[in-house]
Amino acid sequence: MKMLINGNLIDKNDKIAVLNPFNNEIVDHVPSGNGEDVKNAIYSANKAKKSIRDMSSRKLSRILYDIHQELKEKSSEISRLICLETGKPIRDSKVEMERSLQTLLMAAEESKRIYGETIPMDAAIAGKKVFGFTIKIPLGVVAAITPFNYPVNLAIHKIAPALAAKNSVVLKPSTQAPLAALKMVEIMDGHLPDGIINTITGSGNVLGDKIVTSEMVDKISFTGSVNTGLSIARKAGMKKLTLELGGNDPLIVLDDADLDAAVTAAVSGSYLNAGQVCIAVKRIILQEKIADQFAEELVSQTKKIKVGDPLDPETEMGPLINEKAAIHVERVVNDAVNNGAELLWGGSRKGAFYEATVIDHVQNEMELVQKETFGPVSPIIRVKDLDEAIKLANSTPYGLQAGIFTQNIEKAKKAVRQIEAGSVLINKQPTFRTDNMPFGGFKMSGIGKEGVKYAVEDMTRSKLVVIG
Ligand code: NAD
Repeated sequence: MKMLINGNLIDKNDKIAVLNPFNNEIVDHVPSGNGEDVKNAIYSANKAKKSIRDMSSRKLSRILYDIHQELKEKSSEISRLICLETGKPIRDSKVEMERSLQTLLMAAEESKRIYGETIPMDAAIAGKKVFGFTIKIPLGVVAAITPFNYPVNLAIHKIAPALAAKNSVVLKPSTQAPLAALKMVEIMDGHLPDGIINTITGSGNVLGDKIVTSEMVDKISFTGSVNTGLSIARKAGMKKLTLELGGNDPLIVLDDADLDAAVTAAVSGSYLNAGQVCIAVKRIILQEKIADQFAEELVSQTKKIKVGDPLDPETEMGPLINEKAAIHVERVVNDAVNNGAELLWGGSRKGAFYEATVIDHVQNEMELVQKETFGPVSPIIRVKDLDEAIKLANSTPYGLQAGIFTQNIEKAKKAVRQIEAGSVLINKQPTFRTDNMPFGGFKMSGIGKEGVKYAVEDMTRSKLVVIG
């Protein structure tokens, strides 16, 4: 596939192969863009921003509905690309595509609901006989930088609100999994004036700084790892920033919980997309009394996960994004075992595949639970009570989402008050997101919220109008 700049598909002699993590076959190539391409894409977005700024909200909303219609018709083709380039099982790739379509519809609706507010100017002495109100105006050019694990929905979560708020966009998709997003943008471009939406492909290190430091970019909306997010934050200067970064979400299960429901939640939260989800269950914190029973049931459910060819509709778990990622998971699990944790199930690797793994008696200081493992692992930490569970939940640099299973409302309320995370889910795994909810973490998990309405808000600025 090619880059898209100012309505033209751009190729390069220098290319990057996109590999299928299941069999290492080449799915396609993308151009290896350079600084000049970044400049051209940003210039084109800058030149085009007037044409979307001056478009009526009615027309823009209509265009977003039309894009939705065409993407819906082509959703099988795009789901297949997601599956091939990421190794995500086809059933989950289809779910991602369905969610992406919903996200887009929400933006089509939201584009007609961008309101300012009336200010009671006469509440201040100087404001007597003065009217004041705010209007929401577009920012201009939004740069969207996205990761590999949900390559379409996470791109749509930036592009659709940016367009709804009348901005032009430059997308830099993941280097490992750019194809489905490129396909989607090509379709969008067919409905929009040239230059409103542009894509550049290539190495993040090469292109990233050029995007982030450009004076023609008004906002950076980034989803990816903490390290990259920090590097962007240091270089972005006065640009608006949304950073959706890594997580290390705890699932706390107290001794009064519905154990069956909690085990089911742990299984779906730990192994969805082979654990490569920012809000995957990355730590299971169990109250001692129920820990043995929970662990036994968790192992029995884990054994049932169907692993295999991601294109097979029966497959529930595929490979990781590449062998390097699987080797990383193998290393942190082995380190934990070598330091006293007990492997209950799994623990072996074949190429990019890593087994769904349950590991008990994990110590809180271990890398497996202090950092983001990003693989299909359920590490169990045992605690004596809720206070200890909350203390551990808060003991890492992350704060994306957290889940607690308990039948006791007072304990649930205490967890809500004391856990430092962007969302606390009661009797639900943290691996849960609807595309309209305010989503975004505390601490090193990021800055700002996505979820269509909240992203639209962040894609505008307020201008105050005063009538004397
Ligand atoms: P990554 O940080 O390696 O890459 C993300 C994007 O940044 C890619 O497009 C990459 O090419 C680009 N990039 C790389 N170096 C850059 C630089 N110096 N400047 C600018 N851009 C640069 O992340 P990844 O491995 O693709 O994704 C996994 C990470 O994303 C995990 O940490 C996961 O938790 C996180 N994530 C967060 C959310 C969320 O909403 N909070 C959602 C999904 C994934």
